[in-house]
Amino acid sequence: MTETGRSAANPSKKSSPTPKAIIHQKFGDKACYKVEEVQDSTQDGCPGLAIPQKGPCLYRCTLHLPEATIVSGTFRKKKDAEQSAAEKAIEKLGICQKEYNPTIQEAWDDLAGRVAFLFANEFLSSPHPLSGHFRAALRREGDFNGHIPVSVIAVYDAKISNICKYINPAAEANSLLVMSLVLKAAAKLTDLALISDKQFSLWRRNPYPPEIVSSVIQEPNFASIPIEVIYVPAPLDKAVEPLTLHINATGYYLDVIARQLGMSEASDVMISRTIGKASSEMRIYSSAPKQNLLDLWSEPQVKQASHFEGSLNARASYFAGQEVYGDAILASVGYKWKSANLFHEAVSLRSYYRMLVNKIPSGAYKISREAILTANLPLAFTTKTNWRGSFPRDILCTFCRFHHLSEPVFSIQSNLLDPSLDLPGSRKKLKAMQSSKEEKSGAGLVAATVDPAVSIEVFSCEVKIHSKSQELILQCSPQESQRKQTDAMQIASLKVLSWLNIFFENPDMPLEKLNLLAEKLDIHFTPRYFKEFALCHLMHDFGSNRTRAYSDSADENEPSLIDIEGQNSGVTPSNGSLACISYSVSLFREGDCMKEHLESSEEFEFEMGNEAALPHVEAAVVQMTVGQSAKFRVKLPPSEFILAVAADSAATLSLLSSRSCKLEYNVTLLQVTEPLEERMEQALFSPPLSKQRVEFALQHIKESSAASLVDFGCGSGSLLDSLLSYPTSLEKIVGVDISQRALARAAKSLHSKLKSLLDSKESSTKIKSAVLYDGSIMKSDSRLHGFDIGTCLEVIEHMEEEDACLFWNVGSAPHGQEEDLDERNQPQSCKFRNHDHKFEWTRAQFNEWASGLAARHNYSVEFSGVGGAADVEPGFASQIAIFRRREDILKNMELANNYVQIWEWSSQDVTHQEP
Ligand code: SAH
Ligand code: MG
Repeated sequence: MTETGRSAANPSKKSSPTPKAIIHQKFGDKACYKVEEVQDSTQDGCPGLAIPQKGPCLYRCTLHLPEATIVSGTFRKKKDAEQSAAEKAIEKLGICQKEYNPTIQEAWDDLAGRVAFLFANEFLSSPHPLSGHFRAALRREGDFNGHIPVSVIAVYDAKISNICKYINPAAEANSLLVMSLVLKAAAKLTDLALISDKQFSLWRRNPYPPEIVSSVIQEPNFASIPIEVIYVPAPLDKAVEPLTLHINATGYYLDVIARQLGMSEASDVMISRTIGKASSEMRIYSSAPKQNLLDLWSEPQVKQASHFEGSLNARASYFAGQEVYGDAILASVGYKWKSANLFHEAVSLRSYYRMLVNKIPSGAYKISREAILTANLPLAFTTKTNWRGSFPRDILCTFCRFHHLSEPVFSIQSNLLDPSLDLPGSRKKLKAMQSSKEEKSGAGLVAATVDPAVSIEVFSCEVKIHSKSQELILQCSPQESQRKQTDAMQIASLKVLSWLNIFFENPDMPLEKLNLLAEKLDIHFTPRYFKEFALCHLMHDFGSNRTRAYSDSADENEPSLIDIEGQNSGVTPSNGSLACISYSVSLFREGDCMKEHLESSEEFEFEMGNEAALPHVEAAVVQMTVGQSAKFRVKLPPSEFILAVAADSAATLSLLSSRSCKLEYNVTLLQVTEPLEERMEQALFSPPLSKQRVEFALQHIKESSAASLVDFGCGSGSLLDSLLSYPTSLEKIVGVDISQRALARAAKSLHSKLKSLLDSKESSTKIKSAVLYDGSIMKSDSRLHGFDIGTCLEVIEHMEEEDACLFWNVGSAPHGQEEDLDERNQPQSCKFRNHDHKFEWTRAQFNEWASGLAARHNYSVEFSGVGGAADVEPGFASQIAIFRRREDILKNMELANNYVQIWEWSSQDVTHQEP
């Protein structure tokens, strides 16, 4: 299945017809689309959230054609399914797309024809944006011959630029070249003349008839319009400044721009392509390099102009995506379709800097979140539900548009997984999912088993980025497969963005290093092309030492200065959870404490541990609990960020110039949403994996006839809680954990459960005592000496790996169970099932760890698991080790009370502590 960025990112857009349109052209009414709804749990929207039966609707389209019947893939939208079917049909039937495909001679003729058409009488009253220029030109002239700058004809008519592309592909990125082609075509038209080779305006030899002129020229309803523009001087050391142009009623705005730039009139002005958003009228106006134009005119195949007047304007060139010489003006002004009036929009210094920020992937992400001083492009696409702001794929499309590249092309590959192969971790998970899906129909209860005969569909996505002239610039082909096509696209897009971001933020990075980073991200790029981005080095001041500290979380002045206020609520965000904060940022001058407000938000949510917020913000939030506020100051970021948010640029600039400024953040942690692991497992395993683990433990505990149990790393007490409602021989249960917050929750739930059990009188529990300790499993406590059973579920992977290897080294528990999740140990946190996981082991690693532990403490060990089957790949989703003590010796037992008791309940003493 192949999908292009264009069709998805810009469905309403131009040039190539949609697949459906092509099919219609060929088959008309004989093409029959039938869309059906499909319930496909492998395609559901967000893993973990959707209960499969309630998954979002998906559509599949069957296209009946006289020659064939084609079935699309499944899509969220009906129309996407239809387009996909049409696209497949085009491919299958080898339908040739009827497009404009002229010979060079035809193209020249068409170009001349189009120019003649523009100068015809009828065109004056057409709704085309160019006709506004014709009318303005007629209004300002003494005669009715209509002097139209060639640059205007070159940029405002889509047909002309399209034809020029066929004559010379380089015309796409070079308006000077288009101008020269227009001149050459116009030279063949006897009705038209060029004013002079100093003044590139075309005019009619025969004037327009006066009655036509008077019928189209209306009396202006204004005296003068002020237009806010940005002046961009060529020398980089001269500041970019706001400026107001005054366009008077009878004047032509291009004349005003020309004079402002020190030229005499409109035809001296060179106009760039539009900049920024697709709908924008923002362009760079500069002086036309006439000598270059003359050269091109006489020799239109010359690709690179040889001379230039004035010096290269790096800033303007960077925005325009083409060479701009001398001082320039950035303005949003011009005529639009179907409107006789001049369109104009103020361009502020702030919007200039926002455009600059937008040119870098992380900047585009920041802007999409309206959090320029807080958000950061996340490291990984963990899940769709944890992503905030524009999706990677959309940012990549924005990037390409802003850098005048072709839209990215995504190709999705669908693979069938062969369960008999030993596949890497991510795929194992996939198979487990498949088994759970199979189970739905059978209403099974027990752990899912994998049917080796069933293979499932997974997707990988390749992204290619081309220049406008279709030169391959970059290609990313991720190895790993995803369950969903959109995830595969987002992941590939994010890889590209991450790499591009490194390039733009580290302009001095040597090629070998860039190559190495690219390799890690499955990227191949054309180094030659990246030299063309060299202007970014002059534009973004990331490279300087002053600003580098901003992105360096280890900076000495950052977290230490944090001033946290408010009561400790115990609720802290951990990696993988979503933190929701409110914040405000101001520019703060140390000498006189002057402040200028920059940015604030009532609600900004980000995924912890994924670099989704700037390092200093995350560093502060890690230290906070819900309800607390923090205030801290950090060094200034690159000034483009500050100016991109500053409402009052003048005040901000004056503060910035004093050099003793910092950014002051005020942050309040509003809420923390837990990681998705549990919810994810619930959707994939039936019963949920966590429940299966508890069930497994309960079964063993019951069989053991033990009277006392310690749950190490009990968390909020899921196992202890279940023990209360499960008939066992246990009389005493204890929970140990290092998280006070988890212990508080455990106390609360145990308390209410014990209370109701006691009230009900009919419970089968023998439990007489329950205690919770705040303490680490790295240490033992003599009070737990002699307990019959120790359990430890879902804990070691939340510890540092070396600590897990030290587990029980100091203590000794009699009989235990150990559990870990089976997945390849991968260095990137995003690969883990849960962000708080510090590592994930393979089964072999887990077995090795548990065997070593057992040997050191003289235990036997037996392996089992839940979520899958031992002898069918990929094996159990959760690994379990059962340790049994061989001898009743307690050597090396430390006889200290290392734990702090935080809650106790006893059936003798019903006046126990409230949690
Ligand atoms: N056993 C529970 C909780 C698992 S979450 C369940 O299966 O639902 C992991 C728990 O391990 C967390 O509550 C965390 O606070 C705890 N933990 C992590 N390191 C620990 C340590 N060194 N000592 C004790 N508990 C620890
Ligand atoms: Mg876990």
